[in-house]
Amino acid sequence: MTHPSKRISGLLGGGSDGWGVFNRARRMIADGIDVTELTIGEHDIRTAAPILQDMHRAAMAGHTGYAAVPGTNALRDTVAARVAARTGVPTTRDNVMITPGGQSALFAAHAAACDPGDIALYLDPYYATYPGTLRGVSAEPVCIRTRADDAFQPRAADIAAKANGARSLLINSPNNPTGVVYSRTTLEGIAAVCRDHDLWLISDEVYDTQVWEGEHISPRTLPGMAERTLVVGSMSKSHAMTGSRCGWIVGPEAVIADLINLATHTTYGVPGFIQDAAVFALDQGEALEDEIAAPFRRRRALAQKVLAGQNAISLVPAQGAMYLMLDVRSTGLSGEAFADALLDAHHIAVMPGESFGTAAAGHLRVAMTIEDTAFEAALQTLVRFAEEKAGAQ
Ligand code: PMP
Repeated sequence: MTHPSKRISGLLGGGSDGWGVFNRARRMIADGIDVTELTIGEHDIRTAAPILQDMHRAAMAGHTGYAAVPGTNALRDTVAARVAARTGVPTTRDNVMITPGGQSALFAAHAAACDPGDIALYLDPYYATYPGTLRGVSAEPVCIRTRADDAFQPRAADIAAKANGARSLLINSPNNPTGVVYSRTTLEGIAAVCRDHDLWLISDEVYDTQVWEGEHISPRTLPGMAERTLVVGSMSKSHAMTGSRCGWIVGPEAVIADLINLATHTTYGVPGFIQDAAVFALDQGEALEDEIAAPFRRRRALAQKVLAGQNAISLVPAQGAMYLMLDVRSTGLSGEAFADALLDAHHIAVMPGESFGTAAAGHLRVAMTIEDTAFEAALQTLVRFAEEKAGAQ
């Protein structure tokens, strides 16, 4: 057989892919074992019926042919108006391209920012697909560690230390996996590094409607940043539309024009009936977004209650997104060893911090994606387990 390209055969960069505990949990489930899964970032509700009804209406009305490659005017206008209203940055449809989900927007944004071999910076801990996405555009991924001691707020000086010769920096706030929301000070520091080193900033804001504490600030609002920032957005998390594959990039007009050429030669757009349903969903405004975020807000409060009054586990400030990051270093176990042992002893599956790089070693990511009572019970079991392990030290 002829070889596949190095670009795709080397996409994962060798090493462990971090899905060991997850895969083992799935095998146990296939063998009939009742496993509580707190692993994946997907809501326990499905897309709301009225959104599906609108999708059906749009499809029956004939919106099933090729849709405009950059996105329908209606959806581009709706996204532009939402961004302008929430950030104050003037934004029109020419600043917006609709993509098949945030993941494809991340790929396209890096294709726009980086030539082959260019250094693309990203922060550890990171969402699992990041390094592979950067390799996918033939950029050279370079990782910058954030620190547990700083509650994983990146330090501008740490980024500046790796910024010489780099082309882009990828950030994500509210953050997966840490649940941290970047402060204004953090973002101003990041923006200064981007301006000083002439970097593109790719800002993954797919969790922007899930903020429990503090405020979500889009770095595109900061001085001199609109011209060098590509914002990645998505309907997946905000509207429980993960399977609809509908997201966007917001950026300078000239880059969006180039990105539309890329889309013409790759995705050829997003189905029209999905885009119509996205307009319908966005038109429901913040009320619907709050309703979809509410279960996570509730479970975060439950978790804070369960974690109060024990000291085996400390919670990284849970400011946003559908995850909790638990520091279990007091047990003397790595995140991986803890997660493995928890799965064996109690059939509860969580993601080890080591699945997201090296900075969150000794931590666990817990997705708040199961029903409240079961979630609270699983967390109580997890705390007791950590107490036993910490006591046995
Ligand atoms: N960015 C982050 C940080 C994510 O967690 C995810 C999904 N888990 C995505 C991007 C991609 O989401 P989608 O492609 O469904 O929009």
